[in-house]
Amino acid sequence: MVQKSDKIWFDGKLVPWGEANVHVLTHTLHYGVGVFEGIRAYKCTDGRSAVFRLKEHVDRLFDSAKILHITIPYTREAIIKAIVETLQANRMAEGYIRPIVFIGDGMMGVHPGDNPIRVAIATWPWGAYLGAEALEKGIRVATSSYIRHHVNIMMTKAKASGNYLNSVLAKMEAKANGYDEAVLLDPDGYVAEGSGENIFLVRSGYLKTPPLTSILEGITRNSVMTLAADLGYKVVEERFTRDYLYVADEAFFTGTAAEITPIREVDRRVIGEGKAGPVGKNLQTEYFKVVKGENKKYESWLHYYSL
Ligand code: PMP
Repeated sequence: MVQKSDKIWFDGKLVPWGEANVHVLTHTLHYGVGVFEGIRAYKCTDGRSAVFRLKEHVDRLFDSAKILHITIPYTREAIIKAIVETLQANRMAEGYIRPIVFIGDGMMGVHPGDNPIRVAIATWPWGAYLGAEALEKGIRVATSSYIRHHVNIMMTKAKASGNYLNSVLAKMEAKANGYDEAVLLDPDGYVAEGSGENIFLVRSGYLKTPPLTSILEGITRNSVMTLAADLGYKVVEERFTRDYLYVADEAFFTGTAAEITPIREVDRRVIGEGKAGPVGKNLQTEYFKVVKGENKKYESWLHYYSL
């Protein structure tokens, strides 16, 4: 169960958590035309709090909306301000932030007409998405029987609600089969991403991650690529096959929720030593230093706020 906070920002106002409700004929509920974000705020080592890469998340929210012909009735600055206000109202020194833009009720049928565009921002405490042990020891994943979206079937650069039907099916299948997470292949059969994470592998000193075709342009992916390059690793965006993943020295998922989660097994093949590998571990350590404000080089990625 989500741990409730006091308030949710809804269409310009902070309302009590239990009053942030919608009508059953909300268009997005039926047809999936909505866009959202997943953002984390961290308590920094110096005692302050900061939202990680807030600007980039808000930019992606607006990009996602543009792709779906949704005009968000607020400016980017107003959304940034609303996110901070929601964190403050809920006295959240750290946690997860979920802005969602959706189409309200009015017309029914596939075309949304001029139904209202509604915006909500919820925050709640959320620990390690795949479990604290996962961050430490790694997870077991399976190639999904569900294929990631073709780039002309869904708009894969939009973090769109409807896109997640594919993720939910893949995640349920993986869990039902006793795995922690799914890895989905793209329509050409190459490794794409997890149900809610981007994927990296390490082999012969290189870090590889799939190019921006069927996948979401992850902000953690970008952070890890930047960090890795700065740490002297060679990073390449390149398609790879599932069997290339089987013989990787290391593999890991990245995502706002999943952070950097090592993968210790894929389709019952042990990856590397079957535990968090040295490159992934190093990047994970450095990533946590960055989000907690311990590395001044990446200070511009942090949006500090007071409670
Ligand atoms: N791919 C998918 C399908 C996702 O849902 C997410 C989570 N937003 C990611 C990748 C990782 O993106 P980010 O690092 O921006 O959270």
